[in-house]
Amino acid sequence: MNKFENYGLDPDLLKGIKETGFEKATPIQEKTIPFLLGHERDLIALAQTGTGKTAAFGLPILQKIDTNQKRPQALILCPTRELCLQIATEMEKYSKFMHHIKIAAIYGGANIETQIGQLKRGAQIVVGTPGRMNDIIRRRKIDLSGIKTVVLDEADEMLNMGFQEDLNTILSETPESKNTCLFSATMSKEVANIAMDYMKDPLEIAVGKKNVGSKNINHEFYLASSRDKYAVLKRILDLNPEIYGIIFCRTRMDTKNTADALMKDGYDVDALHGDLSHAQRESVMSKFRHRNLQVLVATDVAARGLDVTDLTHILHYNLPEELELYTHRSGRTGRKDNIGTSIAIIGPKEIGRIHRLEKVIEAKFTEQKIPDSKDILKSRVVGLAGRIENIKADHKVLNPLMDIFFAKLEGLEKDEIIQRFVTLELQRFIDFYKNEPSLKAPDPSHRNERPSDRGGFNRGGGKFRKDKKWSSNKFDRKKGPGSFSGGKKRD
Ligand code: AMP
Repeated sequence: MNKFENYGLDPDLLKGIKETGFEKATPIQEKTIPFLLGHERDLIALAQTGTGKTAAFGLPILQKIDTNQKRPQALILCPTRELCLQIATEMEKYSKFMHHIKIAAIYGGANIETQIGQLKRGAQIVVGTPGRMNDIIRRRKIDLSGIKTVVLDEADEMLNMGFQEDLNTILSETPESKNTCLFSATMSKEVANIAMDYMKDPLEIAVGKKNVGSKNINHEFYLASSRDKYAVLKRILDLNPEIYGIIFCRTRMDTKNTADALMKDGYDVDALHGDLSHAQRESVMSKFRHRNLQVLVATDVAARGLDVTDLTHILHYNLPEELELYTHRSGRTGRKDNIGTSIAIIGPKEIGRIHRLEKVIEAKFTEQKIPDSKDILKSRVVGLAGRIENIKADHKVLNPLMDIFFAKLEGLEKDEIIQRFVTLELQRFIDFYKNEPSLKAPDPSHRNERPSDRGGFNRGGGKFRKDKKWSSNKFDRKKGPGSFSGGKKRD
């Protein structure tokens, strides 16, 4: 799909592309052009300069311009005068054979009246630097009500240069219904915040340098039918009481649903996605940073705002649409000398994607058996023993209390008391898993199985909800069926 002729572009535009000397699309163009032409959805593209990103956004913009309308329809914001001129010149070249396309370049250090004149003559595409654009908006010399596409080019640079305020003002003047494309070489916290404040459920893609993952990561996958997916997720959480990690989902809706279901089932999780207000996001991230929350369920974009990298586990509840993003996700674990684990829960049709990923990350995945009740109870009991091993008893305070304690339990052997203690700690798991069947991985050759992108939330989780004990508040959530290590603070 790297031939420009395959994208359904206007013949005059194709002529311009040919004359510019482009023969085939670059990787970023291959990814963005069909997407921008075919979808009304926001886009985040992680790409360095020199990858061909101007044509990546420029060609779809040119294709979509309604030349009968003589007002701005596309606004491209970029950090510097040089880049502004370069983008405008490139787009002039592509559109050389198209009729009635007008492009205005709006940047500081040049005569503002001349630029206003270009707008007045009916420019449909405006390429601008944030400071000068803001100036023109303040003077009410531009009509932004017809803007259908906004491009934030080199968004990281614009923010580094202190254009945050200008961007806020400009973006708030553009129509709600527009689509926004953000191009950035890096995805800093600030860029992620812009993305979350101004973009709706963006698709994130990445091209450029091969991002080979850390050698300290174990890559694992569980094969699950879509019906069992949520139950498998819970089993993985139950198997890892000390987990401190992120569960990645592909969309806000999946993120919300997964987090809600887990919270209802008593797990120590919260959701992070773009539907939350800035203040809500900050609050969730702060809880997680301070380890007052064990697991976050997040979209890729939302998690970008989070500067936490010392995670024990990364869980891919959905594999990312773009496999390159897998390395961004899993790079948050296995830092320094720690071994991290990156776990994908996949459907049988996704085995091929795992093989492709192995090539991207230059590492092998190991398939894991879905844990059964024995595995989980064993792991919990080992975890409990570990906690007992590590805790120091305060004999001074406890000694007088122990007399009362043993008096109350007179007649019980010590062994029996210990077993009852263990039962008390693990009861929710014992009760829950007692009747839970083993979950079998589907046969990968079974091609009729739908990809397990959306886990059903009625398996296992529903059981907890039915059992009032687990959903009622009288139980400490942290110790609920879904609890992990049992303590609130885990550092
Ligand atoms: P950009 O990343 O947009 O700054 O582009 C970097 C350079 O690559 C520019 O000189 C473009 O003219 C050139 N370029 C962009 N797309 C193509 C293509 N499909 N084939 C050849 N050169 C290209």
